[in-house]
Amino acid sequence: MSTRRRRIRLVVLAQFSLIKFEAVTKKYPDGTEALKDVSFELKSGEFAFVVGPSGAGKSTLIKLLIREELPSEGEVFYEDIPVSQLKEKYVPLLRQEIGVVFQDFKLLASKTVFENVAYGLEVLGFSESETQEVVAEVLGLVSLEDQANYFPQQLSGGEKQRVAIARAMALRPKVFVADEPTGNIDPKLTDSLFEIFDKISSSGVTVIVATHAKDEVDKMKKRVIRIEEGLLVSDKKKGKYNGDSD
Ligand code: ADP
Repeated sequence: MSTRRRRIRLVVLAQFSLIKFEAVTKKYPDGTEALKDVSFELKSGEFAFVVGPSGAGKSTLIKLLIREELPSEGEVFYEDIPVSQLKEKYVPLLRQEIGVVFQDFKLLASKTVFENVAYGLEVLGFSESETQEVVAEVLGLVSLEDQANYFPQQLSGGEKQRVAIARAMALRPKVFVADEPTGNIDPKLTDSLFEIFDKISSSGVTVIVATHAKDEVDKMKKRVIRIEEGLLVSDKKKGKYNGDSD
């Protein structure tokens, strides 16, 4: 492809929405309306915070994105594909493209740091040398090269969190999502954690961080989508935690 055509293609891709929530309502079986008529779009390469009080619907939004839950009304699109229509056999592919780090890290206690990160690659059929290379690279990203042979119980909350980030990044996702990443770590480590998110974003990955970390959100001047009681109440470029913009 010529440089010019490649440039045109890149421009077209950049205008494409990677993720789209279209009038999404989620009602759980007990009647709780966790999201109400939520619409927004994220372009490839964007960095967005999703903020709001506990119970606002942030985790539900993430679960809908990776099809852990289905919308009651409306649709979630990933690369223009309606996620609720995706055939069951393609759901693992969706979850490969969207790497999520959950609050409880979900590490395997009987496996070392290396093995935890390598596990997904082995399932995908990576060779031993490819696995070694990728694991070394992503442990470098989170500065845990020296702890590769530790078991999760030997790590602090912040280190476990970083292993979970490395594990998600090992699969080369197009989207990286962190759900309340500061919930279970020492507040002193918050800064370095958000530096890692920034690094991930700089590598071209689309980043979504659901968080309560007001100071970090205000400092980073990224897009801020604010949810309250299931409603999207503001969506600002260079936003602040409380819904203002810079
Ligand atoms: P957040 O992540 O912002 O704390 P959640 O998405 O976890 O919010 O929850 C939004 C609302 O939906 C809350 O009222 C919560 O209690 C409710 N909720 C979450 N999961 C379920 C579920 N599986 N069944 C019923 N209600 C749920």
